[in-house]
Amino acid sequence: MEASKEFVFRKFSEYYKDPSTAVPAPPVPEQREFGYFMFKERFMVRHRRFNAIGTLRAVLADTVPSDVYHSCAYYENPDFDMDKKGWIGSDLVFDIDADHIPTSCDKIHDEFRCVKCGFTGRGITPEGCPACESTKFETKTWPCDLCIQSSRDETAKLLDILENDFGFSEKEFRVFFSGHRGYHVHVESEVIRSLDAMARKEIVDYVTGLGLAILDRDTKEEGRRGKKGTSKKFGLHNFGWNKRLKVGMQKFLENATREDLKAVGLKNKALIDNKESVIKRAINDGRWESINGVSDQTWLKFAEYVRQNQSSKIDTVVTTDIHRLIRMNGTLHGKTGLKKVEFPARELQDFDPFTAAVAFKKGNVKVLVSDAPEFRLGGETLGPYKKQTIELPVAAAVMLICKQRAEVPP
Ligand SMILES: [Zn+2]
Ligand SMILES: [Zn+2]
Repeated sequence: MEASKEFVFRKFSEYYKDPSTAVPAPPVPEQREFGYFMFKERFMVRHRRFNAIGTLRAVLADTVPSDVYHSCAYYENPDFDMDKKGWIGSDLVFDIDADHIPTSCDKIHDEFRCVKCGFTGRGITPEGCPACESTKFETKTWPCDLCIQSSRDETAKLLDILENDFGFSEKEFRVFFSGHRGYHVHVESEVIRSLDAMARKEIVDYVTGLGLAILDRDTKEEGRRGKKGTSKKFGLHNFGWNKRLKVGMQKFLENATREDLKAVGLKNKALIDNKESVIKRAINDGRWESINGVSDQTWLKFAEYVRQNQSSKIDTVVTTDIHRLIRMNGTLHGKTGLKKVEFPARELQDFDPFTAAVAFKKGNVKVLVSDAPEFRLGGETLGPYKKQTIELPVAAAVMLICKQRAEVPP
């Protein structure tokens, strides 16, 4: 193994051997499937069962995987083949990752390359290659402060929905930094364990604001039946998403200028010029028809904008998959060397992953950096670097190597 990989492997090994950073056990570990990705051999070991966390810790120290996962599901026989495991239930898990959120920085630091035809692009990796439709890509990403802030905003919206619309108490969900550039939210409450994939899809639809009666009614269908003229008037009631739309509309108007209105595709100046009446008569009193020159179409467009804005951009596949493996708390992320860390939900805005998730706190090492933007890690601001040999804190060196932006000189 080349010197760089050997160096990261050694650091991961020290981490998993250190009793002061022993990984915490998930609830009911004996009913979970564990899996891990082998550093050197590059394959996934799955269907492992650990009745005691101590055994798992020993395996981690011994094998030193690059990434460690456990099932969100509880099984009678977690180490059996998939169809013989005996599914008992599953935590409700949400994954929010800058990989899936359009950010202003993704075109700057994210690149993808189609493995099959070599097509390259910047920004979010598409599902299929635009040139050959292949779905295999090599990606180059970077976790920056803007990415983290985008993920944080989406997580805040999710937590608000879980708490205020679903009625979960803060004790029922756990919030984690993922180790890369996103957050995980686990709901481990008994009441959700038995939900099937369909029920979870309903939850996903709610969180992402899909299927709202007021916005998603089938106007084509109504048109076919010749009912177009009789379609219901715009109106919002006072709970759930309807309330979110109203609050969002009001907040937007309170701070918006004509330019802001234009920027979100709303051309009707009456919304801004009469903003006081709009807020009072339409949004607060529900007299939507009372604002001169504002049609139902405009209200729908405005509400649609607010829906886009207020929905939480979760990775929907993760939440609906009742057999999903999720990164284990306290373990290292193979793309960064940062660890997955839990923190109190109310500290979401103040929790700094680039300090709290740093696993390697000691020492410096000399590396040859090919290309790195300016970044923050462990309380220091580093870079930008371009084709230079430099001595860096171990955590920064590990991150750059994991991101294929640096090498340990042989
Ligand atoms: Zn291609
Ligand atoms: Zn970014």
